[in-house]
Amino acid sequence: MKDMEKKIVYELEAYTIDLAKIDEGESIAFNFMLDDAFFSALEQTEIESGSVKAQLNVSKKSSTYEFVFDFNGFVQVPCDRCLAEVNYPVEAYNELFVKLGEKTEEVDDDLIFVSGEERKLNVAWLMYEYISLSLPIMRSHEEGECDEQMLILLDQHNAENVADDEEQLDPRWNELRKILDNN
Ligand SMILES: [Zn+2]
Repeated sequence: MKDMEKKIVYELEAYTIDLAKIDEGESIAFNFMLDDAFFSALEQTEIESGSVKAQLNVSKKSSTYEFVFDFNGFVQVPCDRCLAEVNYPVEAYNELFVKLGEKTEEVDDDLIFVSGEERKLNVAWLMYEYISLSLPIMRSHEEGECDEQMLILLDQHNAENVADDEEQLDPRWNELRKILDNN
């Protein structure tokens, strides 16, 4: 488990931006390829896999760092209806302002303070959030394209759960059934 944690930290280390290396008036471009390994290293369950090109431009103007993200590619997410993978295109553009402060904290959706001592910001989770927010809230296959067998299984499962709930909720039904059965 320890080794696993180390590996995750190491994998995400590449997404750390060192602000100390960006001078006033300068602009630096970073290119990332967010692939299956990236999405699994984040240990989230929303985006199962994908392939997204991320372009990040960081510039410094009057002690404010401006981060501009550009995303292009596709991801696979579980379908809300049948749970099988659905493919979604990703096209997103996000701007973020970063200032140095006493500690690292997210002040607003588009403003982050980074500890003046550390001067480093890991953008892995941020990029994941931007991609996730760019997707529609309801995610499912087109009508008729869901995994039919899975739908049948889920229906059965739900029906069983409803039956279980009824019995648990109202034990009088069981008593009534016994009476009816005996007659
Ligand atoms: Zn589906």
